[in-house]
Amino acid sequence: MDIYSDIKYTISERRTILFRKGIGCDACRGGKKGAEVVDEMDYKVINAKLLLSAEEGFQIEQKDFWVKDGKITFSETDGAEVVDAKDKLVMPGLINMHTHAYMTVMRNYADDVDFGEWLFQRVMPVEDRLPKEGAYWTSLLAFSEMIKTGTTSFVDMHMFHRQSPQAAKDAGMRGFIGRGLVGEDLYSDGFGRFQEALEEKREYESSTLKFILSPHAIYSCSTQMLEQVSKEAERQGMLKQIHLSESDTEVNDCLNKHGKTPVKLLEDIGFLDEKTILAHCVKMCYNDLDILQASGAHVVTNPASNAKLGNGFAPISEMREKGINICIGTDGTASNNTLNMFREMGLLSLIHKGIKGDSTAAPARFVVKAATENAAKALHMENQLGVIREGACADLIFVDLKAASLFPNNNILSSLCYSANGSEVESVMIDGRFVMRGRRLLTIDTERVYYEVDKIVKEYLS
Ligand SMILES: [Zn+2]
Repeated sequence: MDIYSDIKYTISERRTILFRKGIGCDACRGGKKGAEVVDEMDYKVINAKLLLSAEEGFQIEQKDFWVKDGKITFSETDGAEVVDAKDKLVMPGLINMHTHAYMTVMRNYADDVDFGEWLFQRVMPVEDRLPKEGAYWTSLLAFSEMIKTGTTSFVDMHMFHRQSPQAAKDAGMRGFIGRGLVGEDLYSDGFGRFQEALEEKREYESSTLKFILSPHAIYSCSTQMLEQVSKEAERQGMLKQIHLSESDTEVNDCLNKHGKTPVKLLEDIGFLDEKTILAHCVKMCYNDLDILQASGAHVVTNPASNAKLGNGFAPISEMREKGINICIGTDGTASNNTLNMFREMGLLSLIHKGIKGDSTAAPARFVVKAATENAAKALHMENQLGVIREGACADLIFVDLKAASLFPNNNILSSLCYSANGSEVESVMIDGRFVMRGRRLLTIDTERVYYEVDKIVKEYLS
């Protein structure tokens, strides 16, 4: 969930803690120890067990591979640094398909209250008070948690112009980022935010940062505006994302106002297609599922957030039966309260086995696919992300198979879904560069981040 304000803040000078060879950073210039240099080596990874895609799930194979120019290759590369991955599972980095990185400042701040109080009395007032540049630091905090728990890509909906992409760039994360849009008309009251969205795209788009048009929800955007966004997404060649059918209130209000469900509303205005990412999709009827199936739109389930806010669970089994592409997101920390995709994967499976009374519902192979390959498909990066194969992006995590929580390795896929808590992630590579090695973050100065976030908490949350 995400609420917006019109508060304008002055952009202060960006502080950068990731730096390339020979280029200093603000933290260093201030005499403070900054992040380490991130080199651009080629690597030869030996002795690893690789999690490879297979027809009916996955297979695990021990095979050497190389990382060259940010890509995976099985062809020998001269001069590569050897990385010994003995006792490690090397698998595609997890893809968090729905979050609000800036919200880490509100972790454990508004819990055990009803949805209305959570939203209107706790979250919204804080968002209205937060300083814009604070979102840079809270986003970095989010990325440090993501990296430490094996996430290499994230899909963000944010409300503070430029902060999320700058933080993602500095952290070396792969981001799919959208400035949240709300209003009646994209070209009048929503124009400022729309301009910011396009400006971020122009300024930051790169091989690792992409931008998504992000209308917030059907209740915070008019039907006219959603139609405008849909046309602009087509014109700009962008994906689009929206929160959809999250709560009973949203669906009932939509039925009262439009005489149709939120899914039907979006279908009728031509919003749904294979370039649409839908977060939540909890309150669905069978006709909604038929519409989603026909449209090719992608669903992101957020089990912890939906449970915590008392909204229920997406009908995952029914969606799977229809062949709807299902991905996984954590949502923001105000409604989760972690960004740990391993926890989310376990919850997804266990919740659906429990509520369906069916121990075969949401098996481990489906859950791991949802967090990797399905996400890549929704992002239109199939065969580039979420897989280990020749030419794919080297977004990889090294999981310690000798961690007590995973040992013995009777079934590695089960380990990832049911046993892993994220602490088993030993090293993380994004776009061919290590951002964590031996549990040590290389692109984020966590002490600095904690210091800055703590200052924000003291000033704006106390
Ligand atoms: Zn959300």
